[in-house]
Amino acid sequence: MTTEPTWPCAAIRDADLAPRTTMRVGGRARWLFEPAHPDEFVEAWRAAREEGLEVRVLGGGANVLVSDDGFDGAVFSTARMARIFRPHREEGADWSAGAEERVGEASLGRVGATGDESEPCELVVWAGKGLLALVRATRELGWSGLEPLAGVPGHLGGGIAMNAGGRYGELWDVVRRVRLLLPDGEIVERERAECNPSYRNGNLGDAIVLGAVLGFERSTRHTVEERVRELLREKSAAQPLTEHSSGCIFKNPDPELSDGRSAGKLIEDVGGKQLSRGAAVVSPKHGNFIVNTGGARALDVIGLIEDLRRLVRDRTGIELETEVRIW
Ligand SMILES: Cc1cc2nc3c(=O)[nH]c(=O)nc-3n(C[C@H](O)[C@H](O)[C@H](O)COP(=O)(O)OP(=O)(O)OC[C@H]3O[C@@H](n4cnc5c(N)ncnc54)[C@H](O)[C@@H]3O)c2cc1C
Repeated sequence: MTTEPTWPCAAIRDADLAPRTTMRVGGRARWLFEPAHPDEFVEAWRAAREEGLEVRVLGGGANVLVSDDGFDGAVFSTARMARIFRPHREEGADWSAGAEERVGEASLGRVGATGDESEPCELVVWAGKGLLALVRATRELGWSGLEPLAGVPGHLGGGIAMNAGGRYGELWDVVRRVRLLLPDGEIVERERAECNPSYRNGNLGDAIVLGAVLGFERSTRHTVEERVRELLREKSAAQPLTEHSSGCIFKNPDPELSDGRSAGKLIEDVGGKQLSRGAAVVSPKHGNFIVNTGGARALDVIGLIEDLRRLVRDRTGIELETEVRIW
């Protein structure tokens, strides 16, 4: 008889990953770990490594495409590590959130409204905080900086790893400091100036984001709200936000090579919007989005990605680079 390992956090054996991704495709993970605290995350990560398991991190699953075979290792979900609070004034950020400093979104709103103007506009955020909720929280506070992330799904950690953003700004614009778990098990803090994020890439290698200190500009709730609303309108007019997708499939190519055309425009220009495989369909709204219209397999989506890449290469000579992470 074999005994099951006892893990230092909630763990599900043989977990279905598809419902944990926005594309809703893919197989199962041997283990899904759901730590509720960064310390628990680290402890469980060390335990999984000691068991010889390969480890991956899953945020909101908004930019991951899981293969139909799934993943024969341990997937760490950040979903339960979703706290947000003000840093301690004297000692800098206290990552474990002292009860007196921990504030929910409602009280964040109150703090903003009655606001002590001398207080820095900073928040400590754990890796699993949803980006949509984070944008809402800063809007309530009247703090500016995250408006370009309006409508972008996923978690803070995934957003930092991917440097999520768009034409008006990126997540790293508000990152002051990150707390990382390095592949050798060491925990380090890195200032923004020590990191080198680039287009859709936090450039953190295999480091895992446990949390970050974010800094904002003081503004007003009304101003931030108006901007968020405007950008949301623009985004939902151009992208299939209510359908199952992984966001943009390809990175935009170097504008000098593509005459300034985005990946979506290139795909549209070469007739890629007509393509589909099974229930995986190129969105009529945006050429760089593949949507799962119901029951698609990862194989369909990956096949369609390669069809699009080939079509663009054959017609334009441009090699599109995948933005979505394929597991
Ligand atoms: C409808 C839609 C619209 C989108 N619009 C945009 C957009 O406008 N701009 C944009 O940039 N993106 C967009 N995306 C893609 C996606 O929202 C972002 O890439 C987001 O940052 C992914 O975050 P996540 O938590 O879901 O990451 P996941 O998809 O879970 O993971 C992505 C990668 O990050 C790694 N990762 C996750 N968490 C961590 C962590 N804590 N530490 C280290 N690595 C980690 C994963 O291992 C994986 O390699 C969109 C997606 C959808 C579905």
